[in-house]
Order: sequence, then structure tokens, then C-alpha cells
Amino acid sequence: MPRRPDDLAFVGLGAMGAPMARNLLRAGHRVQVYDVRAAAVENLATDGAIAAGSAAAAAKGASHVFVSLPDEPHVRNALLDEDAGVVAGAAAGTVVTDLSTITPGASREFAEALAAYRIGYLDAPVSGGVKGAEEGTLSIMAGGPAEDFARAEPLLRVLGRTVAHVGPAGMGQLFKSCNQIICAMNLQAICEALALARAYDADLGQLRELLMGGAASSWMLENLAPLMIDGDTSAGFRIELQLKDLRIAARAAAETGVPLPGTGQVSWMYQEAVAHGEGGNGNQALFRVYDRLTGSASGEPSAGPAGPAGPAGPAGPAGPAGPAGPVNGP
Ligand code: NAD
Repeated sequence: MPRRPDDLAFVGLGAMGAPMARNLLRAGHRVQVYDVRAAAVENLATDGAIAAGSAAAAAKGASHVFVSLPDEPHVRNALLDEDAGVVAGAAAGTVVTDLSTITPGASREFAEALAAYRIGYLDAPVSGGVKGAEEGTLSIMAGGPAEDFARAEPLLRVLGRTVAHVGPAGMGQLFKSCNQIICAMNLQAICEALALARAYDADLGQLRELLMGGAASSWMLENLAPLMIDGDTSAGFRIELQLKDLRIAARAAAETGVPLPGTGQVSWMYQEAVAHGEGGNGNQALFRVYDRLTGSASGEPSAGPAGPAGPAGPAGPAGPAGPAGPVNGP
């Protein structure tokens, strides 16, 4: 079937890519799709996408190519492989919009490499999770030439509600790093509050509900805290991807000498989770780091509040040593 000038390609049909590609289909676009997992391609084909056997085949005839891939090596392979990558199929004048989270440096490198083929490139990482991808309400921060953004913007508005051009190549990734610093530390703050409340046998659901009405409310508290309380082990935004994002932020900080002590500390929590086999689970698994620190189990009633560390203080951290302290709160 001959392709039309506004036909699209989508490469990477994972937790984020599949719902985003579906939203482009729903908006009436013809979308040719590719993923290294044949099952992911077949799934999208049942929703009306055109299955392609490589990134090159997907990009053939497309005016815009979207990629949503885990990390830099996957993006490099999908874009620049001379036989099967986007460069082997896309015509000059095509715009590639990279929705993956990678380093600003890699984004600048890909922009330069694609420019040699006269292919445009936007680094356009997203925030809002799988829910935002499904509902088309993502926040999208795009770096790259203004004219490429102008061409991609109507399509980005299908995928997201808050869409902006934020500067030259790499700047979208820098914005995303700032986002990830806030998300990770917010999540840790929630873990810590829930761990404390659990030690006092508080009703964690009620706590969350009350906090949602006040100054501590956040996207994380709304969406991930219920999963944390339930001890959920599903995927979503994986622990290993967030750790990758924190490392990206740390590298950007190292280049400018900006200290990020909080980012370093929360990275340790994520590393602990990965070391305990939680890398493939969603970010809600960060609460299980606190399970291990406190000898409790998420999703179950409190294992019996541990007494405070010393004989006298009610506010000491939970620990096995304190038989004397208040059990159900001060
Ligand atoms: P994912 O692992 O679920 O999906 C990635 C997909 O890419 C998989 O289907 C995989 O098979 C495919 N893939 C890998 N290498 C490929 C290649 N060379 N060619 C074609 N397909 C290939 O990851 P995700 O959660 O969808 O995340 C994608 C990107 O979006 C990541 O950079 C992540 O950091 C970012 N992100 C994720 C979330 C989230 O909530 N999951 C939120 C914001 C941003």
C-alpha cells in the first residue's frame, strides 16, 4: 500500500511506547510499528498498526519516526544501524522524535549523526507514567531545532497535555533529569513516612487519603502509594529505569560541578532494590527497601510494631531492641 506523507513510524512498543502508538492510531494516523519483540508488534497490529520487520522498514515513507526505548544502546541501534536502523529507511526531511530517557550528551550525538542524513532529531523525554501514556496526558519536554519541533508539535499534543520546546538538543533530557530527581526523592519521602506510620500500626490508606488533601500531596502519593501499601510487584516504571535516570542526572551534575547529595543518597536505595532482584518491578518496590530495613512486609498487616531503639524514647527508629516503647503510637 503506498504510504501517505503524514504516515508515522513507532519503534519500541513497551510499557510507554505501545499506548502512545495506540493514541496516534486513534487520532487517525497510519502508524508502521517495530519492536524487537514480535509479540509487541503483533499486539499493535491487532489495533490497526502496520507491522514492520525492522526500524528501517518502519521508517520507510514516514514523515515522523517516534522511538521509545529503554536506554542509549537501544536508541543507537534502532537509529543508526546502517542495515536495519532508521537511517537505512528514512528519507531526508524525516523528523525523529526520541521519547526515551537518555543522557543529554547522547541526544546531542544522535542529533549530529542524523543531521548527516538530513534527518531531524528531537530529544523529547516524557513524564506521567504509563497512565499518562494511556490517557494522552504526558508532559513532554523537547530539545532540538525549533522548526523540527514546530512540525512534530501537533503529534506530540496527541501524546501529551503539557508540551514545550525547551531549548537545543539535549535540553529536553536535562529537564527530564530534573523531573526524575524530584520523583525519586518524593517517592523515598513517601516510603519513609509509610514505614514510620506502619511501625505505629497506623491505617496507611487513611494516612494517604488525608495527606492527599494537604501540602504533601503529589503524583507519587496519588498513584504509587496505593501500590506500595498493597505490596504490588507489577512492572510499570521499572526500578532499573529510574536508577538509570538518576545516573544520568548524576553525570549531568558532574559535568558542571553541582552537588546533588539527595540524588546520590536515593540512588543508593534504588541500587539496594536492584541488588535484591527488584530491578524489573515498578518504582513502588522502593518501599520494600524499607521492609528490609525494618523487618516488615508490604501488603500485610504490620509485623507488630518494633519498639523504639532505646528504652526511653518513643521516637527512635523501629528496631528489634526496644521492648519498652509505645506500640501503637505516642
Ligand atoms: P520498556 O522496556 O517497557 O519498553 C521498551 C521497548 O523497547 C521494549 O518493548 C523492547 O522490546 C523494545 N526494544 C529494545 N531494544 C529495541 C530495539 N533495538 N529496537 C526496537 N525495539 C527495541 O520501557 P518503557 O517503560 O516503555 O520505557 C521506555 C523509555 O521511556 C525509557 O527510556 C524510560 O526511561 C522512559 N520512561 C518510562 C516511563 C514509565 O513509566 N515506564 C515513564 C517515563 C519515561
